[in-house]
Amino acid sequence: MSDSKGKVELIVNGKRMDGRSADDLRDVKIQVGIINEADGSAYVEWGGNKIVCGIYGPRECIPRHGASPYHALIKCRYMMSPFSSLEEHSRSGPSRRSNELSKVIREVFENLIIAEKFPNTQIDIFIDVLQADGGTRTASITAAAVALANAGIPMKDMVSAVAVGKAGDMLALDLNKLEDNFGKSDMPLAISNRDKKILLVQMDGLLTKEEVMEMVDMVEKGCEKVHHIQTEALKRFYQDGNEKVKW
Ligand code: ADP
Repeated sequence: MSDSKGKVELIVNGKRMDGRSADDLRDVKIQVGIINEADGSAYVEWGGNKIVCGIYGPRECIPRHGASPYHALIKCRYMMSPFSSLEEHSRSGPSRRSNELSKVIREVFENLIIAEKFPNTQIDIFIDVLQADGGTRTASITAAAVALANAGIPMKDMVSAVAVGKAGDMLALDLNKLEDNFGKSDMPLAISNRDKKILLVQMDGLLTKEEVMEMVDMVEKGCEKVHHIQTEALKRFYQDGNEKVKW
């Protein structure tokens, strides 16, 4: 994994360290309706990521003076549990990073939820990362879309999200944690499934215009696969009866 200088080698013999080729996704599993008290919920395992999302609302806006008579407020709280990741990230809880992720995830859903239907209310999206392995923001968006559908919140479209980046010199889809942390570049994207609108784009590192074009293409294809897994999870939940999983 690391060479004699302690540098992490992300590509060995043309393959990524977990054996995937450039446009392979990690395994993605989604389970719907796992939190009894929530209006909607989903659990996503994506490679080594384990993420729970619970939706509450539309419900009374607190504080009331913050409510809008025109639409529901969308609120999002993304959080990493203290045991979600090892070594260098010693601190969990609220941080600049968790505030940023909460904001960008919220903005994705502000563009999708038909909030005008629910004036004076709020819709809460709670996301807890139990285990982190790179790409938690994209896995969280994927989980939240399913949980919102499970809560019956009307949306203009569904959304899936995948990150793409550069592991060594290879353009690689769905970076794992080492590829994310030690790769040359990282570009998480969220794309709506029907309209193909880009609802989230962030970027670390340097990329050429041609590379960006190719990477967007890779993510579009990845998102189609993820969308299929999201839809299958929802179908399974509604076809097999609405029994919420009892832990
Ligand atoms: P994303 O999870 O969306 O890829 P980052 O690029 O910020 O977000 O982080 C990449 C990975 O590095 C995370 O998925 C996680 O495995 C690890 N990581 C980053 N920041 C933290 C943190 N504060 N606590 C625990 N793990 C972290």
